[in-house]
Amino acid sequence: MTGTVYKSTGSWYAVKTDEGRLFDCRIKGKFRIKGIKSTSPVAVGDVVDFEPETNADTGIITRIHDRRNYIVRRSVNLSKQKHIIAANIDLVFLLVTLKNPLTLTTFIDRFLVTAEAYDIKAVLLFNKADQYDDEELLEVKYLANMYRQVGYECIGVSAVTGKNTDKVKELMRGKVSMFSGHSGVGKSTLVNSIEPGLNLRTAELSEQHRQGQHTTTFAEMFDLGFDDTRIIDTPGIKGFGIIDMEKEEIGDYFPEFFARKGECRFNNCLHVDEPHCAVKQALEDGEIPWSRYKSYLQILEGKEENYRTDIYGEE
Ligand code: GDP
Ligand code: ZN
Repeated sequence: MTGTVYKSTGSWYAVKTDEGRLFDCRIKGKFRIKGIKSTSPVAVGDVVDFEPETNADTGIITRIHDRRNYIVRRSVNLSKQKHIIAANIDLVFLLVTLKNPLTLTTFIDRFLVTAEAYDIKAVLLFNKADQYDDEELLEVKYLANMYRQVGYECIGVSAVTGKNTDKVKELMRGKVSMFSGHSGVGKSTLVNSIEPGLNLRTAELSEQHRQGQHTTTFAEMFDLGFDDTRIIDTPGIKGFGIIDMEKEEIGDYFPEFFARKGECRFNNCLHVDEPHCAVKQALEDGEIPWSRYKSYLQILEGKEENYRTDIYGEE
């Protein structure tokens, strides 16, 4: 039989078939060897084949279908190992607020770079539209416009008044989504307004952290009440994982840089000190915003510490 992994404990996997039947599955020993670099070879969102066991709602996973994409986190205990938290994600929403809390453009850009590297479509939701004065609204418009020009869909929403939440729902329809953003930007409120009763686990994790418990982070998938729409919830959901990048590839994850790269004199141009750099020219011409370039330099300089605390706040 074939199904999708909805939940993982590290040793048991809840697998749901297309008919909606749930099986508790385990993996065979050899899978552990195959997934050498991962602490857990099967992730939430994986499509798997499994052999049901007789007279029980249990089974043995025999095959993992190829993943379209996946997100990773460094394992809690074994820092060199990666933990695949979720796979086959259609889109990720980043909730952005200008106050309570403030989301910096460097955070947005690092997030977008990660999404590009993961090959997951990202949408920016400027939440709490109801709380801004005219000047702040102008800034939201400026930012949204800037990111739209790069090619990202941006929507001004309010999880409290319901402004544009129907648009978010439309984007989610029939897809597997994730929600990210700093703590307090309104992820739970927004998801709850779209699917009443479904509460994200953001708060729970920090509670566990305070108590110093062992916290391997496992994601969980939920069906929403409409059209095969699903959401992947990860504890500490603001974290979108981390990814190792070579210096040369970082610019490729800035779509507006990538588009100009062919006009740089050197095909391995890092867009820093090289002569005849099309990216720096576009910067001077005002076609690329300084804030984007600044974020690029930060990532290039490999401020990994900052990167990890920014994107993955718990570390
Ligand atoms: P999370 O940590 O991202 O899940 O954020 P929450 O959903 O818990 O929201 C944090 C706080 O922001 C709560 O007090 C919410 O009521 C409030 N909040 C969420 N969305 C909005 C919004 O659109 N407008 C306003 N004014 N407050 C909001
Ligand atoms: Zn260049």
